[in-house]
Amino acid sequence: MLPTASIMYEIELQEHDPMSKNRATAADGSMATSYGFSSVGEGEKQGLVNDVFHKVAKRYDIMNDVMSGGMHRVWKDAMIAALNPPKKPGWRFIDVAGGTGDIAFRIVEASRKEALGTVLDINGSMLAVGQERAEKRGLAAHLEFVEANAEELPFEDKSFDAYTIAFGIRNVPDIDKALREAHRVLRRGGRFLCLEFSEVQMPILDRLYEAWSFHGIPKMGQAIAGDGEPYQYLVESIRKFPRQQDFAAMIGRAGFGRVTWTDYTGGVAALHSGWKL
Ligand code: SAM
Repeated sequence: MLPTASIMYEIELQEHDPMSKNRATAADGSMATSYGFSSVGEGEKQGLVNDVFHKVAKRYDIMNDVMSGGMHRVWKDAMIAALNPPKKPGWRFIDVAGGTGDIAFRIVEASRKEALGTVLDINGSMLAVGQERAEKRGLAAHLEFVEANAEELPFEDKSFDAYTIAFGIRNVPDIDKALREAHRVLRRGGRFLCLEFSEVQMPILDRLYEAWSFHGIPKMGQAIAGDGEPYQYLVESIRKFPRQQDFAAMIGRAGFGRVTWTDYTGGVAALHSGWKL
């Protein structure tokens, strides 16, 4: 199968709680959430996640290539092809958890520099790398960089034509809240697209992927970035994220219509799509 080979699925609502995989009630009655394989308070998770991305920011782009064997580029290109941004002025998008800018750069370039974008991330270190890269690529005039939380977007209702988030949502403590915010800031007819690591659907690939994730990636992190621990978190957080169908149901509950998803590379990654109807 080609790396980009994909199958599209449509939403089928589940009765059970899709977040049961990574949320529970803490002993004191407050919500607990997963930080990798550990259970932490929702308030605590964001600080731990922020530490990870402060540590990896400067090495983030090179590690992405190493961890995914360059596949993240193929998946990101497929996401932009699905979005198909119009080549006309006035179209606005927000790329949430945009980090070092990969998705936003691709959107602006695909729109022939007509689109105007907001790269939003909670982490100033990731955004600083993104800003520097935007300047080098001559894209800075088309983008603004905003440090803020996906759970509380500092924008008015109906501000954007598209909302994208790539490899970001599993890091957000309250995913339902982030999805509701996505719906709020989109205009009617606006597109929601989320690219995220997902559940591998092929048994042999699953075992290979498991071995690489738990043995290869943290070791590469140690060798290249000088610290394996952040990469251990990244690998564990992928396993705790809801499976494709369950995540689609969450998107539907946030108010989106026509929710579908497409598996990439046998489900290593999946692109979820929804519309504000
Ligand atoms: N989207 C980029 C890409 O695909 O290369 C970066 C993805 S990186 C794996 C995850 C990003 O999510 C980090 O930059 C991190 O700071 C950001 N993030 C984590 N929690 C967030 C939150 N609550 N709100 C906004 N961004 C968040």
